[in-house]
Parts: sequence; structure tokens; C-alpha cells
Amino acid sequence: YVSGDPINDVEYEVKEWAREKKKEIDLLKKQEQFRREFLSNVSHEFKTPLFAIQGYVETACDCLHDDPETAKNFLTKAGKNVERLSYLINDLDSISKLESGEIPINYEKFDFVHLAREIMDGMEDKAKAKGIVLSFKEKYTTPAMVWADREKIRQVMINLIQNSLKYGKEHGSTAIKIFELHDQYLIEVTDDGIGIDEKHLPRLFERFYRVDSHRAREVGGTGLGLAIVKHILEAHQQIISVRSTLQIGTTFAFTLEKKS
Ligand code: ADP
Repeated sequence: YVSGDPINDVEYEVKEWAREKKKEIDLLKKQEQFRREFLSNVSHEFKTPLFAIQGYVETACDCLHDDPETAKNFLTKAGKNVERLSYLINDLDSISKLESGEIPINYEKFDFVHLAREIMDGMEDKAKAKGIVLSFKEKYTTPAMVWADREKIRQVMINLIQNSLKYGKEHGSTAIKIFELHDQYLIEVTDDGIGIDEKHLPRLFERFYRVDSHRAREVGGTGLGLAIVKHILEAHQQIISVRSTLQIGTTFAFTLEKKS
């Protein structure tokens, strides 16, 4: 912008500079708020199981002598909370490494069908325990060669299938489907579980975002699973989306690069 009038030009430049500075300050404020919220979420997430452990251990100590059976029950409950803390630490570790770019994406060519079958075999028992049938809808037998980090995609699939089991209804089903697109594969994980209200969908991939935190804690969630999934796929420059209907079920869909 040049008006020809030096005073106007200086005024314009100052305004432009102030606009830029305001943008920078707004961004810093946003980051600061984000950090504060994250820390407060983390400490809250740690406090709940820690207090529970403290309570269970104290009660167990009190009744250890007179009622060892009850003491044992309380210690088992304390153990469950220790397990939750260790999941939380693992997930926090993954997320911070992914965010800082500390762990590189190790691309390799592999057969996604083979990986998916391996994962499904590993989760069969968990599914059976809830009467859920895990299936490959299209009876996929041909390989689907992709270009991606095998171990990270394993993590994506485990998180999505685990969610479908956690939030799926008893004796329901989880189906994995693969669609061949032009230069990508589209992978879908569908359950017929509790579903998610539309209003929650835009925030679902945020860390610690939960539709029903009470239920999520009960089923053993850390609130980080989907954030990790999104990070991994973004690092691959791939996309994840979700569609869901309450009481009907949920589908997560993501893409992977095809490699011939
Ligand atoms: P969590 O560890 O709590 O399961 P996630 O990040 O994996 O955390 O998921 C975030 C939230 O999204 C969950 O708490 C749950 O409310 C909702 N959610 C995720 N997957 C499903 C699903 N398949 N069906 C219904 N709700 C789901």
C-alpha cells in the first residue's frame, strides 16, 4: 500500500505492525491456555487413581489382620488403578514424543491385510469376553500393500478396535473394511455400540476429550487414544474421520498410501 502521502503511509505501516503483533500475542495466549489446560487435565487424571490407591491400601492395611479376604479385594482394586496409571504414562509418553517429532515415521512397504489379521487375532479373546464378533467384512484375501510405519499403524488399529470393544454393546460386532481408492486405501472400523452424539464429534480427537468421562474411566480409558491416532495419521499426511449415530454405532475411517 502506497498512498503517496508520507503521513498516511507511516500510519498504515504502524497499523499493519500492530495487527501483526496482536496476531502473535493471540497465538501465544492460545498456546499458554492450551498448556495450562493440558497440565490441569494431566494432574486431574493422575489424582483420581492415586487417591483411589491411597484409600484402598489404607483400608486393606486396617483389615489385613481380621479380614484378609477383604484386604485382598481392596489390594486388587488398588492394582487396577496402578494399571491405569501406567497406561496413562504410556499414552502421555507416546503423545509427547509424537508432538515433538522425536519419533520419526519409519516408512516401509507392508501388507495391511496381514497386519489387520494379526491384530484381530491378538484381540480375539477380549472381543469374545464381551461376546463381540470381530470380522473382516469383505473377506479380504488379497494383499493391500501400503507405504507407512507398520508399528504406528498397528497402534492406530489397536486403539480403534479397543474403543469399538469398550463402547460396543455386548454380543455386538466390530467390522473392519478395506476399500481400494485411486492411490490410497480407505480403512473403516465399524461398531454397533452406544454411538456418539453429533455435538461431540468435532472435539473427539482432542486430548482428554470424553463424551462420558464416568463411563470412559470405568472402561479403562485414558482419553488419549484418539488423539494419538490422529497424530500418527497426520504425521503420515493421511486423514481420519468419524461418523456416528447414537444407539446405532460408530465408524472411524482413515486412509493409507497405496504402494504397488
Ligand atoms: P478413551 O481412552 O476415553 O476411550 P479416546 O481418545 O480413545 O479416549 O476416545 C475419546 C472418547 O470418544 C471416549 O471417551 C468415548 O466417549 C468416545 N469414543 C471413542 N470411540 C468410541 C466408539 N467406538 N463408540 C462410542 N464412543 C467412542
